[in-house]
Amino acid sequence: MAQRTFSIIKPDAVRKGYTGAVLAAIEQAGFKILAIKKASISKEQAEGFYYVHKERPFFNDLCTFMSSGPLFLMVLEKDNAIADLRKLMGATNPANAEEGTIRRKFAGSIQENAIHGSDAEETAAFEIGYWFAGYELI
Ligand code: ATP
Ligand code: MG
Repeated sequence: MAQRTFSIIKPDAVRKGYTGAVLAAIEQAGFKILAIKKASISKEQAEGFYYVHKERPFFNDLCTFMSSGPLFLMVLEKDNAIADLRKLMGATNPANAEEGTIRRKFAGSIQENAIHGSDAEETAAFEIGYWFAGYELI
């Protein structure tokens, strides 16, 4: 059954000119781009998005990085979208990411790792609702 997931092309990938290549990889893997928008987010908006990580040592740096430049917010749709996107992304640390994955190809470090993808149905619902209004998902 078609499932929705939420994704971000992170500021490092946008800065390096990888937006088109990342979108191509996503489409070639069979995802429908249901919604996409470019944004420059504030540090406070990043903190709200990543609040589950607020106790982690990297939280402050992560939120500074995510607000360091434009990014692309996306809602993707496909059968098994959540797990399939995580597979296409590769491991959080690009050094551990499998050959052919987006992070292996485009990520520079464990923090500046090119792409975000929701990790479960509940987080996908929260993340889509955090950045998109219902009328944008048609
Ligand atoms: P994402 O949630 O962005 O899809 P993920 O689920 O693979 O990535 P998480 O553990 O949820 O990884 O961490 C969220 C983000 O925080 C990572 O994508 C990365 O940008 C950053 N991050 C995670 N671990 C570290 C770390 N040890 N040092 C620095 N940054 C980190
Ligand atoms: Mg995560």
